[in-house]
Amino acid sequence: MHNVLILIYHCIDNGSRLSEDFADPFYTVTGRSFREQMELISKLNLRVIKLDDLVCSILDRKPLQQDSLVITFDDGYRSDFEIAAPALKEFNLHATFFITTNNVQSETVWDKLTEMVKNGFSLGSHTVSHRYLTKLNPVELREELCGSKTIIEQKTGQSVNHLSLPGGRYNREVIKAAEECGYTSVLTTDAGLNNHLSDARKLKRWSVKRDTALPEFKRMVQFDSFELFKKVSTSVALRNIKNVIGDETYTRLKSRIARSKY
Ligand SMILES: [Zn+2]
Repeated sequence: MHNVLILIYHCIDNGSRLSEDFADPFYTVTGRSFREQMELISKLNLRVIKLDDLVCSILDRKPLQQDSLVITFDDGYRSDFEIAAPALKEFNLHATFFITTNNVQSETVWDKLTEMVKNGFSLGSHTVSHRYLTKLNPVELREELCGSKTIIEQKTGQSVNHLSLPGGRYNREVIKAAEECGYTSVLTTDAGLNNHLSDARKLKRWSVKRDTALPEFKRMVQFDSFELFKKVSTSVALRNIKNVIGDETYTRLKSRIARSKY
């Protein structure tokens, strides 16, 4: 059975200083590392498919022809079109960009996103305000999911079928609301692989971080089973820690570590 590894990127910055103040330093990859990673995917001749292709194979229960990668970006930073899209274009690689609509602060940025769609990239929703969806009442939940979908579709003319969950938080109500708003897939931050038998409403991904070294990246994109096992174990442990200490304490601890490290 062939598998799909979905990579998550966030902000890409072009130097030692972070290009965008609100970006999480742990998940901000340097432009240089990003380019090296895309070059490696290209050199190794790895297959990068569209998220739509994976979702179609799940909906049709039709196995994929070979192990593949899907490249995604969360949050909607300016680096999506300033750094990532040009590098992806250079290596002829497809990606889906999940936009938090409140992060798009001008018509110029919407024009850039529309241009990305014209260049063959896909857009998905990362909600309106990036609040954790498990904390919202049904009305707020609907506004975050349906509202962001409508805005992106109206501004760019591209239909939005995929949702990426802020902070990876979800429960049964979130998944149900996503279905009701018309999403065909929901992407979590749970680490792991996907295949044609996966649940399209809970797709697994792996986050590339600032300190992800190229050899580690190479093992992941080549589906090294030990590396994958380590990532899945860490992801499960982290989820348990978040459940025990709560979102607020977890966020506070994380930003304290970030301040001392970066
Ligand atoms: Zn996010």
